[in-house]
Amino acid sequence: MNPASRLVSKFGGTSMGDAACMRRSALVAARRGSRLVVVSATSGTTNDLITLGQKAQSGHWEESENLLRRIRDRHLGLGDDLGVPPDDRRRLAELLDEMDSIARGVYLLRDCSTKALDTLMSLGERLSSVLFVTAMNEALGPDQGRASWLDAREVLRTDDQFGRARPLTESIRRLCAEKIPAADAGVFVTQGFIGSTEDGATTTLGRGGSDYSAALLAEAIDADVLEIWTDVPGIATTDPRLCPAARSIAEISFKEASELATFGAKVLHPATLLPAIRRDIPVFVGSSFDPQERGTWVRRDVVDAPLVRALALRKKQVLVTLTTPEMLNAHGFLAKIFKVFDDNQVSVDAITTSEISVSLTLDESALLNRKLLQELSRFADVHVEDKLTLIALIGNSINHTAGLAKRVFDAIEGINVRMICLGASKHNFCFLVDEGKAEEAVKRLHRSFIEV
Ligand code: ADP
Ligand code: ASP
Ligand code: MG
Repeated sequence: MNPASRLVSKFGGTSMGDAACMRRSALVAARRGSRLVVVSATSGTTNDLITLGQKAQSGHWEESENLLRRIRDRHLGLGDDLGVPPDDRRRLAELLDEMDSIARGVYLLRDCSTKALDTLMSLGERLSSVLFVTAMNEALGPDQGRASWLDAREVLRTDDQFGRARPLTESIRRLCAEKIPAADAGVFVTQGFIGSTEDGATTTLGRGGSDYSAALLAEAIDADVLEIWTDVPGIATTDPRLCPAARSIAEISFKEASELATFGAKVLHPATLLPAIRRDIPVFVGSSFDPQERGTWVRRDVVDAPLVRALALRKKQVLVTLTTPEMLNAHGFLAKIFKVFDDNQVSVDAITTSEISVSLTLDESALLNRKLLQELSRFADVHVEDKLTLIALIGNSINHTAGLAKRVFDAIEGINVRMICLGASKHNFCFLVDEGKAEEAVKRLHRSFIEV
């Protein structure tokens, strides 16, 4: 390994799916000369841990035990397949015992707080990273040093918003300088998704947060490049699972890729690019299954700037319409309602207003907090429509191109559009449709704008 290399590589759940996947991923990291490898939980494990928390909390111990056994067997089986050395085997056993104890505690108390759930979920990444050290050591060449396990909670400092903790970047930088010495030859293997508060409580960054962890660590160690290795060969023109004609994009700007991630492209966690933009770190997205495939570079400056580069789709949206005559010729109404969203920590994606009403889109999950609608109804009549999907066209000069809206609506003729947002960004045009029509709309738009 080149000790001067500052490469951070992240491998997602499918890249950690089984021993063969881990070995393949480790070879990718070794060949590229990674300094810091950030891994997700093995595929399906985070979901299992969440279900475990729910089952234990609701008193279903037998189902909890089945899940505990399944997670235990999966990881011990992987340990056998990889030939994990005795010390790491002991570490795996300790982590699995910790999982049993937490589940038991949740069951006895019938209480799975967000704090308890974060510790439970953290076990996914803590287990997979112990396993990955063996794969990494097997992959490293004789002059590349050894792989060592780093507990991400020692460096990834966050606030105490369990379930979606916010990183404290200055502390992360300081802690990384202490724990990841620049001169040290060797590779550090650490966990994505998890962090800890000042007083040592385990936190998580929100689902899919390993990408964000990797970017935060890349920022903290002034990495030259951040690589995100996943199960598709780069960022595609739209979700390839949904549209087989989607094709991988060679290059995309930070701004476009940020919009794409925010508007639902699961390939990157929405916050991933923030640290990369702050330090101008190029990001590569590629397939660990097929590392030779071209992949995508995300950078500040790119050569071409097509009108529509990609399409994103954000499911499970609700449209909240607030109506009140108070808005007529008055000021301060929007300030009042945005204060309610702020107080309830709910983020609004798209918004339109008329004379006496305002409509906003939210993630469906925002309504789990009943207080939000109660507080809004103090100011206005509240109407909620659900089962909607937000579709976004991502590209360049979108708000300055004559005839674009006509082309969009010609392409989706016959599909009802519930709301449109155009003008705020030159990179984004989005609109809301019934969830049952969303895939068809994306396919038609893809045909019209991208397969040409
Ligand atoms: P990982 O486990 O590696 O983090 P994810 O499942 O979170 O992987 O993200 C990869 C998935 O993102 C792909 O399998 C693909 O279905 C989905 N996806 C959605 N939109 C896009 C897009 N525009 N380009 C590539 N993949 C996308
Ligand atoms: N394991 C976490 C999740 O499934 C984080 C990640 O994979 O990025 O959400
Ligand atoms: Mg992901």
